[in-house]
Amino acid sequence: MLKKMKKSELKMFEKKLIKERDKIIRELEYEGEQISKTQLESSGDLSAYSNHMADQGTETERREVTSQILSTQREALFEIDLALQKINQGKYGTCERCSNPIGKRRLKFLPQARTCIKCSTG
Ligand SMILES: [Zn+2]
Repeated sequence: MLKKMKKSELKMFEKKLIKERDKIIRELEYEGEQISKTQLESSGDLSAYSNHMADQGTETERREVTSQILSTQREALFEIDLALQKINQGKYGTCERCSNPIGKRRLKFLPQARTCIKCSTG
């Protein structure tokens, strides 16, 4: 039989998820600000010459890295929202593929996990 997760455990994971969600949202906001700042700077800087040109390569790289981080974080945010929905629906902690319970150790490490360790690795 499937063992249902205790209410207190669910609450704990819910708290963890909400905390993580807040953190990501803050980071997204921060990165968003940084991006608009650099955009402002580079558009306002057009008259201030070559000094800036040398940095363009690294600047592009930096932006690429930032947008990668942003998309990873958006994905994580999406997963966290899903997990929070599942808590509300009473489906949290169950593997989406095999319907077995996801190990608690895995959930502690990755509270938004949708599959058990077996399904995720193999
Ligand atoms: Zn599974």
